[in-house]
Amino acid sequence: MNLQYEAAVLHAAGAPLVIERVSAAAPGSAEVLVRVRAAGLCHTDLEVIEGSLRYPMPIILGHEAAGIVEDVGTAVGKLRKGDHVVLSWNPHCGHCFYCDRGLPILCEDYLERGPRALAFDGSRKARLGSGEELGHLMFLGCFGEYCIVSEQQAIPVAREIPFDRACLIGCGVMTGVGAALNLARIGRADTVMVIGCGAVGLSAVQGARLAGAAEIIACDVDDAKLELAQRMGATLSVNAKTEDAVAAAKKGSSGRGADVVIEAAGSAGSLRTSVEAVRPGGEVIWLGKIDVAMDVAFRWGALMQEKRIRRSSYGDARPARDFPLLARAYLDGRLMLDELITRRIRLADINAGFAALKGGQTIRSVITFD
Ligand SMILES: [Zn+2]
Ligand SMILES: [Zn+2]
Repeated sequence: MNLQYEAAVLHAAGAPLVIERVSAAAPGSAEVLVRVRAAGLCHTDLEVIEGSLRYPMPIILGHEAAGIVEDVGTAVGKLRKGDHVVLSWNPHCGHCFYCDRGLPILCEDYLERGPRALAFDGSRKARLGSGEELGHLMFLGCFGEYCIVSEQQAIPVAREIPFDRACLIGCGVMTGVGAALNLARIGRADTVMVIGCGAVGLSAVQGARLAGAAEIIACDVDDAKLELAQRMGATLSVNAKTEDAVAAAKKGSSGRGADVVIEAAGSAGSLRTSVEAVRPGGEVIWLGKIDVAMDVAFRWGALMQEKRIRRSSYGDARPARDFPLLARAYLDGRLMLDELITRRIRLADINAGFAALKGGQTIRSVITFD
């Protein structure tokens, strides 16, 4: 089989994505071919386009997608042609030092092959018309009509959830909800502050609500995003442009500071605010990203008093367990996903979609294929 399809290819950082015809061979024995039906535009893709995250080129970006299983390898056990799946970007070996310690996000094979833009079996799947091999961002590369992934990366979900909503579960929603439900120990009377109300932060607000937090303080610099946060469960909102976020955290918690602070803004200032706003003995989870070469300064006193700080990039995701639960939560009306989608676009409009993301005009643009 030699599959031909359209994909958005990045040839160099700073250049626009180019829609091209690419080709791929049949999936390997432990892989599946997924027909992509929807893919979200995430900040991580933008970081690669802008060059702050460096990957080998040319590459197919896209790591938040849902689709239909079109073909399965001979050794694939659980998946069937026609399954509706959400794709995970954290394949792992299951038996290395970190996998043994319950940290699949640090799996040695995952960390070794990911930055080289390889598929999880160490190969490359797609080629340009010239024969040149293409890399795949985060073991996916789903800004195209098809994607070949290892079996463990395609997670079946209920067929009733529309693809454009399902795709969000694969990255932003998993990261935010997972931080609140899988990582933070949120109690029923707790005050949770969420800093940054993009897709990840809004998902963290919802995770805090699902965990039963009594007060949820949303913090952002955009009133429209704060309004959305309130619809999703925030009990108080703080515009950090005009208000003091740390004072608001104290006000919302009898002067102590928030029990849990989830940071999803990705700036040195928001990282500093997070440790100032949490109470003694409280918990801070950092989800936002800044340039890895950057230094961040903290007031030492803000780090003291038994505070716990954890950095997470995927909300301690266990995709096979969590993706179907999140899809079910959407279908049951407990998780809002429709509101996270600002625009639905075609693959051909992908560059405009990233310009809007960069300009802060969108929570999520979702590419739909039909
Ligand atoms: Zn992402
Ligand atoms: Zn491993």
